[in-house]
Amino acid sequence: MAKLLNVRINESKEITLQNVWQAKKNLASHINKTPLIFSPKLSNLTNSEVYLKYEHLHESRSFKMRGAFNAISNLSPAQKSRGVTTFSTGNHGFAVALAAKKLGIRAVICVSKHVPRAKIEKIKSLGAELEIYGDGQDDAEQRCYELVKEKGLTVIPPFDHPEVIAGQGTIALEILEELPDVNCVIGGLSGGGLLSGIGLVMKTTNPDIKVIGLSMEKGAAMFESLKRGKPVTVREEPTLADSLLGGIGEKNQYTFKMVQQFVDQSILVEEEAIKKGMAYLYKEHNIVVEGAAAIGIGAILNNAVSLEENTKNVIIISGCNVDLDAHANAIEAYL
Ligand SMILES: *Cc1c(COP(=O)(O)O)cnc(C)c1O
Repeated sequence: MAKLLNVRINESKEITLQNVWQAKKNLASHINKTPLIFSPKLSNLTNSEVYLKYEHLHESRSFKMRGAFNAISNLSPAQKSRGVTTFSTGNHGFAVALAAKKLGIRAVICVSKHVPRAKIEKIKSLGAELEIYGDGQDDAEQRCYELVKEKGLTVIPPFDHPEVIAGQGTIALEILEELPDVNCVIGGLSGGGLLSGIGLVMKTTNPDIKVIGLSMEKGAAMFESLKRGKPVTVREEPTLADSLLGGIGEKNQYTFKMVQQFVDQSILVEEEAIKKGMAYLYKEHNIVVEGAAAIGIGAILNNAVSLEENTKNVIIISGCNVDLDAHANAIEAYL
């Protein structure tokens, strides 16, 4: 394992706005632009303009398709012929499976035992092979690197990879196109690929644009790592925002530094607020989204985040891979 991590270190390079534009080119004919929706009620509530970026509308049901497709489409023909593998709490695995299917290559997805059944069924339905292993993302990651040695597969990591980060950054290009005077972007923060990509684009374009990262109260590895000034491991606990679980990697190469540099605030959000956010999006916007995607709305409703008056704010609605039963249970108390 240590040996393989060194390979990643040697490959390390700087990620620039150019990489994000290249990613936009790679994705252009395969991945649809997502809508930016004005929310009159949230705008009234906050005395500001609030827009929702509907990243749950991708075919893969989350923004992860952007990074996964960009990384896979950049592989050499030899790598493509051997296939890809990844470790993931679900959405990235789903995205890798779908991207590999579109490109006609083999995919093996390693996941931990805690990944919801619905996500596992989805990955299988895409024809990907599945390896269920261990208690957390770190165990799944270890299995993934064994497969590299055993079968010559290429790992597509969920966040700490230049092309994955550049792919997620294309979200920011779309936002700027529609809302060039955006003041603040708010999104879920886990491994940090999403906000590294968005932060890179926003801060390069205008350093005054604020970027805010939100995580669940328990098991927020990036939050703890930022606090301690180095990547640390935290214990995973069940949460409605299961897509925000997982470590950031002790040998994190990119996202930890990029989040340090580009994310202005990292904030923890209570489980009840996440439920409220899911209920609000269901009632007011008629959408069913997973906990991780509702965390921004929950944070606003619970005053964990306060928007500056008369500013333009974008909240990333990141995905909708959720069991309908789990969704109904979560929102019941707030309907
Ligand atoms: C992966 C994911 C996130 C967090 O993205 P990171 O790049 O890991 O910080 C947020 N929401 C959803 C739905 C996700 O799948």
